[in-house]
Amino acid sequence: MKRFFKWIAIIIGSLVLLGLISIAVICKRHHRSGILASGGKISDNQAAFDVSSYDITLKILADEEKIDGVTRVEMKSLRDSLARIQLQLVRSLKIDKISYMDHLLTFERKKNNLWIHLPTPLIKGEKIKLSIEYRGSPVKAIKPPWIGGFNWSKDNEGNHWIGVSCQGEGAKIWFPCKDHPSDKPDSIALNITVPESYYCAGNGLLRQVKQPESGWLTYCWKSRYPINNYNITINIAKYEILQRHYFCKDGSTMPVYFYTLPGFKPQADSLLDMAVDMLYTYRKLYGEYPFAKEKFALAQTDYLGMEHQTINSYGNNFHKTEIKGVVYDQLMLHEMAHEWWGNKVTAKSWSDFWIHEGIGTYGEALYLLDKGGESAYHAFFDRIRPRIRNRDPVVGRKNATSMQAYHSDIYYKGAYLLHTLRFVAGDSTLMKTLYTFVNDSAFTYDNMTSTEDFINYFSDKNISELLRFYLYTTELPIIQIKSINDTTFSVFTDNITFNMPVEMNYSGGTITAVLGSEPVRIISSTIPVVDPQNWYLKQINFD
Ligand SMILES: [Zn+2]
Repeated sequence: MKRFFKWIAIIIGSLVLLGLISIAVICKRHHRSGILASGGKISDNQAAFDVSSYDITLKILADEEKIDGVTRVEMKSLRDSLARIQLQLVRSLKIDKISYMDHLLTFERKKNNLWIHLPTPLIKGEKIKLSIEYRGSPVKAIKPPWIGGFNWSKDNEGNHWIGVSCQGEGAKIWFPCKDHPSDKPDSIALNITVPESYYCAGNGLLRQVKQPESGWLTYCWKSRYPINNYNITINIAKYEILQRHYFCKDGSTMPVYFYTLPGFKPQADSLLDMAVDMLYTYRKLYGEYPFAKEKFALAQTDYLGMEHQTINSYGNNFHKTEIKGVVYDQLMLHEMAHEWWGNKVTAKSWSDFWIHEGIGTYGEALYLLDKGGESAYHAFFDRIRPRIRNRDPVVGRKNATSMQAYHSDIYYKGAYLLHTLRFVAGDSTLMKTLYTFVNDSAFTYDNMTSTEDFINYFSDKNISELLRFYLYTTELPIIQIKSINDTTFSVFTDNITFNMPVEMNYSGGTITAVLGSEPVRIISSTIPVVDPQNWYLKQINFD
């Protein structure tokens, strides 16, 4: 009996310990997410300069999981008397030296902030290029891409397989930068040195491969398009390169690549054909591929995916989704949509993150509409509707950080809202609006955008009201159906400020009515079914 109690005590003790460890791990993750979150309210100092380029030169010491190199940050002052510059870089990366031309600069570090004192204050419009030499351990990914960082993985043969994802954390986890979504550099360069048996794939175009020392190669990548700092990435593995051609509207040809691990070549080959077809489908919807002077590419990664500009991370294991006979790679389609919504059109605050994720997710529905017609399109919304939670507004609080703004409704409710618009505004108006918005120079590339820009793009006041209701509140229209007698019903809604055109099925067929606080009377032997095709997210009360 004594023995029995001893075992019970051991089991209970172990369970308690396990519980404590789990809590500690969860806390560590949350703690880290909070500390490393990107964006938020921009400081006065960072609002006073504009980054024009990052030139990142790094040697990758994979066995030690360390990096060593220099980042050159070019910026322009937006005001007079700018005496110091605030950048961000995680503390695990040690700074050896910061210089500007021949001047050695002094600096201070506080948490992940880096304050650099300039030799003489800058005047408005003046440019400066700072050189920051550093080395050490970049932040390690815990659950990429959601809790990102460096992925120091191994492939099936035990070779290094390295990737970087840092959407939530920002690029400060691996190079000094102005970690705020409102500032995209106009160009970047990546000069990455790896052991010579490895390949390094990055953003933009490969300009050259140099041999700096025996046994090592430096891959020099350059992108001349504005880019979010979290979209800058490197992928290092024993990659094999598959290639296709994409024919641009202007007659030029753009390469499409898949950087794949050797064992996956046949699947990668057929996925690449699908990728090219998707590019043409999106072009039909949104106009030319936004980075046509460079490339579209997929890099096989050991994490699910990320929309890294011109080099989408792909870790979906060639899994296919089937909706009403349309078979496609959902992850690839989603990341590719971000080349238009997220990378070309970019929100200047994380609060408006839904523009990337919600409109990007709607791209999947439009792809299904193109390939499988209305039934595939509607089946997509039947799938995502139960996932919408309505706990937080789609648009985050003002100056939200990446972590504060991120929840699943920015994807699903954001996409559903466009579905609603397709009914209310009509298919051609919606598609014309999306097309003109994504091709408007006022809201693309270097000119970032906001929810209000998007709302104002619809000239119809009723549509603006509808958009604001679904984007800024967690309420749903409450539709009241009251039975007046056996064959007469009254239908109305009084918690919305917009007119709500709906279809209603009743015993006599289908009618379209506009719901508001004024009741609509229906004579029917059956209870009317409001919005039978589910164009709206709504609540129905019957009494
Ligand atoms: Zn996404």
